[in-house]
Amino acid sequence: MYVNTKEMLIRARKEHYIVIGAECWSLNSASALINAATELNMPLILMLWEGAPEPMAQPEMICDFVRYEAGKTHVPIALHLDHGHELETVCRAIHAGFSSVMLDASERPFEENVAITCEVVRMAHACSVTVEAELGHVGGMSGSCSENGDNTLTVPEEAAEFVRLTQVDSLAVSIGTVHGIYSGEPHIDIERLKRIYELVDVPLVLHGGSGTGIDLLRQTMQYGVSKLNVMTDLLKAASEAVSEGSFLPELDIYEALAECVKGYMLPLTKPL
Ligand SMILES: [Zn+2]
Repeated sequence: MYVNTKEMLIRARKEHYIVIGAECWSLNSASALINAATELNMPLILMLWEGAPEPMAQPEMICDFVRYEAGKTHVPIALHLDHGHELETVCRAIHAGFSSVMLDASERPFEENVAITCEVVRMAHACSVTVEAELGHVGGMSGSCSENGDNTLTVPEEAAEFVRLTQVDSLAVSIGTVHGIYSGEPHIDIERLKRIYELVDVPLVLHGGSGTGIDLLRQTMQYGVSKLNVMTDLLKAASEAVSEGSFLPELDIYEALAECVKGYMLPLTKPL
């Protein structure tokens, strides 16, 4: 069933589990991920990154496909725009039929982030599309980040004010995770997360799930983290499957993707 992320994340926050936001980049990768969710009887958020060149050139096509595939399963499936930086990209995703969008103005000053997020919330909510924003900044990019990347940690009081002003549906917070690959041990600021959880009543999102470790991630779900973004580990699983060079590498890729996402879902998500 094709849904937005509102109900699924509110329930996850209430019942202390995490829905995985899994990056996809093609029709087949989307299909493999939906099949994995169906097999485990768990909700899943498929994400398309704003910078993904091929699918984002024709977002309508992947959107129609995901809606069709989601319609064949009983588990809740959402399609989410990941890291939309411009209003135009977010508009395009909403028109194409995405059920959820992220507006990432986390590198802009607080007031600008509030203003553009308010605009997106107004537009998206009119179309029953849910909105994620980010306050503080989760840094790092694949292969290039240092231990803390260029992170700016979220200030709990600002997060509460941001949610009050924007009426956003979920908030991505910066508590020490990084995009891409950790160069050392991950340091997650659980005390900061706890304080944010006390002050903010919408579901919280963690970016940079890959390499953080299941034990640390399980601690965060006690304090409002309801969505975890995973990209690097999925790309790694796919590329390792190709380099193993079997007779039908394409099939191996999709099997590897399914196994990788299940490795996150089984310990973090609750079956329906
Ligand atoms: Zn991210």
